[in-house]
Amino acid sequence: MNTLSTAIDFSKAIDISIPFKPQGVNAFWAPDVVIEPFKSGDFIGDVKQGGSVNFRNIQFNPHGNGTHTECVGHIHPDWQKVNEIMFPFFMGCDLVTLPPQREGGDLIITREALEMVLSLLPKQEAIVLRTLPNEVSKKSLKYSGANPPYLTKEAMHYLVSRGYQHFLTDLPSVDKEQDGGRLEAHKVWWDYEGGSRFHCTITELVYVDSSIPDGRYMLHLGLANFASDAVPSRPILFPLL
Ligand SMILES: [Zn+2]
Repeated sequence: MNTLSTAIDFSKAIDISIPFKPQGVNAFWAPDVVIEPFKSGDFIGDVKQGGSVNFRNIQFNPHGNGTHTECVGHIHPDWQKVNEIMFPFFMGCDLVTLPPQREGGDLIITREALEMVLSLLPKQEAIVLRTLPNEVSKKSLKYSGANPPYLTKEAMHYLVSRGYQHFLTDLPSVDKEQDGGRLEAHKVWWDYEGGSRFHCTITELVYVDSSIPDGRYMLHLGLANFASDAVPSRPILFPLL
């Protein structure tokens, strides 16, 4: 997409993030989010409890407590930091919706299913994969131990072949929850052996309301500025005019 000649409807920002909050969404047995007032001597960082200001510590795990964006540092010993990756403020983005297919005890997204919805579209920088069913309860779902759907290695090869650099999904991971550490889809996405795609990102645990139709959007992938392999993020879609 030629971003210089694309008109965007800025009045219709579509937030596709799930907030980090106590009792929120949870995956990979991450501890729950804790937000509590800082205490020191007589000071308490809680106005309701007599403090002059609210001044709270927050404990969370980016991978398990909400919408987050990660880089190859998630699986690489060099521990690359996702906040050091530079990408355009706006990126052309496809939003597609698929029902995972049952294979044995698993639910999978296959290459063939992605080809059905993507093969005729022009190339974009980013893609959002929404999976079905898409109940609002996804925003507080407890995924740990539930063996959620995931992408096959071949499906990820297909997305890479289409040139996408930023992959977003409502799933908690692109790989099977317990895969013995193989992480095949992650490794394909980042070209783990070749190192040619270490500038690419994966964003997991988004939620795209069912009222938002599939199609082309402009994406702003807003990252919290933490120096780590994954950070809370707030992706926003803008409709095209
Ligand atoms: Zn993750």
